[in-house]
Amino acid sequence: MTQSIDITGGGLFQIAEPEAPNPRRRAVGKAIGIDLGTTHSLVAIAPKGAEPQILLDEDGRALLPSVVSYAGGRTVVGRAAQAVAVEHPEQVLSSVKRFMGRGRADIDFDHPYRLAPDTQVMRIDVSDPVADAGQPPRYVSPVEVSARILEVLAERGARELGEVSGAVITVPAYFDDAQRQATKDAGRIAGLEVYRLLAEPTAAALAYGLDRQGRGEQGEGLFAVYDLGGGTFDISILRLRGGVFQVLATGGDSALGGDDFDRALAAALLEQAELSNPSPAQLQEVMQVARAAKEALSEAETVTVALERCGLASTELTRAQFDALIGPLVKRTIRASKATLKDAAVDKRELDGVVLVGGSTRVPLVRALVEKAFGREPLLDIDPDKVVAYGAAIQADILSGSEREGVTLLDVVPLSLGLETMGGIVEKIIPRNATIPISARQVFTNYSEKQTGMSMHVVQGERELADDCRSLARFELGGIPRLPPSMARVEVSFELDADALLTVTARELMTGVKQSIEVKPTYGLSADEVDELVMDSLDHAREDFAARNLAEARVEIGRVVLAVQTAVDEVGGIEGLLADDEREAILAAIAACEAAMAEADHADPLNAARERLEQLSEPFARRRMERALRSGMSGRSLAEIESALAEEEQLDQRRGAHSAEIIGD
Ligand code: ADP
Ligand code: MG
Repeated sequence: MTQSIDITGGGLFQIAEPEAPNPRRRAVGKAIGIDLGTTHSLVAIAPKGAEPQILLDEDGRALLPSVVSYAGGRTVVGRAAQAVAVEHPEQVLSSVKRFMGRGRADIDFDHPYRLAPDTQVMRIDVSDPVADAGQPPRYVSPVEVSARILEVLAERGARELGEVSGAVITVPAYFDDAQRQATKDAGRIAGLEVYRLLAEPTAAALAYGLDRQGRGEQGEGLFAVYDLGGGTFDISILRLRGGVFQVLATGGDSALGGDDFDRALAAALLEQAELSNPSPAQLQEVMQVARAAKEALSEAETVTVALERCGLASTELTRAQFDALIGPLVKRTIRASKATLKDAAVDKRELDGVVLVGGSTRVPLVRALVEKAFGREPLLDIDPDKVVAYGAAIQADILSGSEREGVTLLDVVPLSLGLETMGGIVEKIIPRNATIPISARQVFTNYSEKQTGMSMHVVQGERELADDCRSLARFELGGIPRLPPSMARVEVSFELDADALLTVTARELMTGVKQSIEVKPTYGLSADEVDELVMDSLDHAREDFAARNLAEARVEIGRVVLAVQTAVDEVGGIEGLLADDEREAILAAIAACEAAMAEADHADPLNAARERLEQLSEPFARRRMERALRSGMSGRSLAEIESALAEEEQLDQRRGAHSAEIIGD
C-alpha cells in the first residue's frame, strides 16, 4: 500500500524538549540468567563479560527440580518437594509451566490437581484432602508457584553476587503474550527486576556465541535449535541478522520428551517381570529404575537392572534394545523438525548450525538421528541442560550494562525510528537493533490533490500507532505542487551517524524542495526506559496489530471513496460514461462505505465495504481509462497504446509497493 503523509497548516518544525539524562539504576555485573524449565530450572551468572557459570545449591547440584510442595502446610521447593510427591500427589505441584498464562478452559491435558471452579484465572487447590477436609480450599496460582521456584534461584544468585540487580528469564519461543506476562509476573513476585524475557532457542544460540559467528559483515546466519526436555519437544529455526536473532518458525510436540522414554522402558521391564497390574509402589520402582537405566545408557553400552519389588532378577539391558524401544518416539521429533524447516521455508543445506538443547539430547540415538536428518553434526560442546541458562546469563550481563567482546550495545539502534503516516500509523524507517551508522530512505506520496505541504512527524518506539510512540520531532515540507492523489513523490531519508545523531531529510522529487532537521534520539532515554518501551510493545503486540489494521483500513477506504466520488462528480454530463442505475449503485456503495467508516471498530467491515465499492466501480474506471487513452492517443498505433498501458500498469505496481531502501553499512 502506498504511504501518504497527512497535511496540516503549520509552518516551522519543532523538536521535542530534551529531558534530563537519567542515571542507570542497574548494578553492572549483578544480574542473573534463569532457565525456568518445565521439569528443571537453573540459574547462571556471567559477571562483566566473564564465562557463564551455573550456580549450585548447598549440595553442589545445578538442577533445581521445578517442583513445589504445599504438603503439611509448608512450602518446599525442589528435590525435597519431589521426594514427597508420591505421598501427596495433589499438593506437590510439578510442571506448572504448562499452566502459565492459561485459563482453566485451556487445560486439555491430564494432571492430578484440583482446580478452582473459575474459568478465567487458573488456580490450584493445595489444601490437604484429608487433614483439611471441610475447610475452605487453599488456592495457589501457577504464577505464585513459579515465583517460589524463582525465589530459590534468586537466593543462589544473591549468595554468589551479594545482591541481584535483575534477571533475564527464558521462555519457550512459542509462548504467547499471556504466558510471557505470567512469567514476568512470577519474576516480579519473586522480587526480581525482569530485564527481559528471552526465547529459549535464542538463549542457546547466544551461549554458543552464534551471534558473533554469522557470515558476512552484517552477521547473517540460519540455525536450528532442537530442544528435547523431560516432557516437551521444541524445534526452532532462527535467523541471525545484524547480530540479532529472529525466530522464523517454531514447532514440536508439547507432550513428547524424555519422560516418554522412561515410560517405554518401564513398560518393557514390566512385561519382562510379567506384571500386568503393578501396585503404585511397583510402578514407582520401575519408573525410577527405567530413568536411571536410560541415563546410564547414554554413556554405557549395557546396564544391569534389577526390580526388587517387581520380582525381576538382575537382567542386562543393551543400548540397542533401548534404541528399539524409543525409535518411534525419536522419529516423531524428526518429522516435526522437517515440518518446521518447511514452515520457515528453509532448506537444511542453508543452515549454518544445529544446536542441541535439553537433557534428552544426551541419548546417542537422538544425536544420531538429528545428525542424519539435518545432514550435519550438531553443536554439543555445551552441556545441553545448561546451555539455555548460560545464554540467559550472558544476556542479563549485557543488559546490566557490561560490555562484552563483539557485543557493544551502543552500536545498535535501541528503538525503531519512524514516521507518522495517514491514520496515525507508524512507518518504521530504521528498525530497532540495526547497527549504526545507518541510513535508510522511503518514498511517500500525497493523499489528496489539495495537498501542498506535508507534515513530518518523527517518532521512536516499537508500537504501531504514533500516539503510543515517543515523539522526537515535527517539521513541515511546503511548496509541493498540486498533483492528483498518489502522484507526488516525497523521499524521506533517515541518517543515523556513529554518534547516534539522526538527520531526517524530506525532498519532493519533482520540484526538489527539501527540508531537514537533526535530532538525538537517545537523548534523555535510560537503558531501563528503552527496555520498558520494548517490553511494552511485546505486551501490546496483539492489540497494536488490530489497531494498525483498523487504521490502515480506514485510510484505504477513505482514499477509494475520495477517488470514486471525485470521478463520479467529474464525469458530470459526459455521454455514455456512467449510466444512471450504475451511478445509483456506486453512490449507494459509497454511502455504505461512509456508514462503515462511522461505525466500524474493526478492519473487516471496512475492507468489505471498500472491496464492494471497488468492484462496483471497476467497469466505470475502465471506461474512463479507455476514454482517456482514446482522446490522448488517437492516431497512434495499437502497439504504442499497449506499451503505454503496460507502463501505466508498472507505475501502479511501483506505487503499490512502498519503496523502502536501506543503504547503511
Ligand atoms: P526441561 O527443559 O523440560 O525441564 P531438561 O532439559 O532438564 O527438561 O531434560 C530433562 C530430561 O532429560 C529428563 O527426561 C531426563 O531423564 C533427561 N536426561 C537427563 N540426563 C540424561 C542422560 N544422561 N541421558 C538421557 N536422558 C537424560
Ligand atoms: Mg528446557
